[in-house]
Amino acid sequence: MLIIMKPSATPQQIEAVIHAVQARGLTPHITHGIETTLITAVGEAHDPSLDSLELLDGVESVRQISQPFKLGSRQVHPENSVFPIDGFQVGGDDIIIIAGPCAVESRSQILETAQAVREAGANALRGGVFKPRTSPYSFQGLGEEGLEYLAEAREQTGMPVVVEIMSERQLSLMLKHVDVLQVGARNMQNFNLLRALGETRKSVLLKRGLSATIEELLMSAEYLLAGGNKQVILCERGIRTFETATRNTTDINAIPVLKNLTHLPVILDPSHATGHADYVPAIARAAIAAGADGLIVEVHPDPAHAVSDGRQSLKPEKFAEMVRQVKGIAEVLGRRVAPIKKPLTVGW
Ligand code: PEP
Ligand code: MN
Repeated sequence: MLIIMKPSATPQQIEAVIHAVQARGLTPHITHGIETTLITAVGEAHDPSLDSLELLDGVESVRQISQPFKLGSRQVHPENSVFPIDGFQVGGDDIIIIAGPCAVESRSQILETAQAVREAGANALRGGVFKPRTSPYSFQGLGEEGLEYLAEAREQTGMPVVVEIMSERQLSLMLKHVDVLQVGARNMQNFNLLRALGETRKSVLLKRGLSATIEELLMSAEYLLAGGNKQVILCERGIRTFETATRNTTDINAIPVLKNLTHLPVILDPSHATGHADYVPAIARAAIAAGADGLIVEVHPDPAHAVSDGRQSLKPEKFAEMVRQVKGIAEVLGRRVAPIKKPLTVGW
């Protein structure tokens, strides 16, 4: 249920509506728009007196929200959600580029990659330290040691770090070291994890599940939003189809569809979407052309010896070329790649 307040509504009238919503067993979420305040009432309770909310002072109208996702819907928040991540804005006109290796493998590997992607124009550094591997015998990540190397890379380059969290048990450790918590495709419907992240005020990058529909992705985002965490970025990373020529099939449609359905920023991961470094730049360009708010791309200084996802990892020089192309496409659309905020603190 969406309660639209009159532009002239006073803070006291807004407060009275919030109390009336709570009295009916629903949870109010407030959006202060440019002209009006919107109060989204979510919850199970069905109370026949809900219609009477329309009679309260300062209320313009009361509407049902037709979609199953409520707080993520554009119906309740018509403007794009824009929020800061350590100096740059996500979800606005600027496009963000997150880049780095699939996994943090060593101190020198992450420092070298961080420097290279930073120089190529990346805004944030990615690197997994707890890896969701298909086989329990494959490299599982460096854990806390990897977070320490990422902290050093962050310190040297000024780039915030994006790291996948696989379990609630990792949360306290991650909150100390990480700027954006990535929820991987395999955990998109780990509802306990989503609830725990919803309680935090850390930005979350939520990746689409391997076989998840767009609606399921938005319902997962709803878990985060319902907990009060509004800093949610959605990520299309390819879905499973009958096609075997690529690792996954990029659902490029998901970008305009999501941008239409939700106010949340939407980015694309061309690395996992294709599984081949040769195809990554083309799909990165397509994503920006389709309206994505950013990219997350795997880059490795020596892909042939990467411990995971080497085949889909770009070498730094290929990544730099991709960034130049993306900048060109962004310009055509009246957008730009977010400028790098700080100078490098160390010279290489
Ligand atoms: C990753 O980003 O390294 C990863 C495992 O991605 P996904 O969850 O999309 O497979
Ligand atoms: Mn990977």
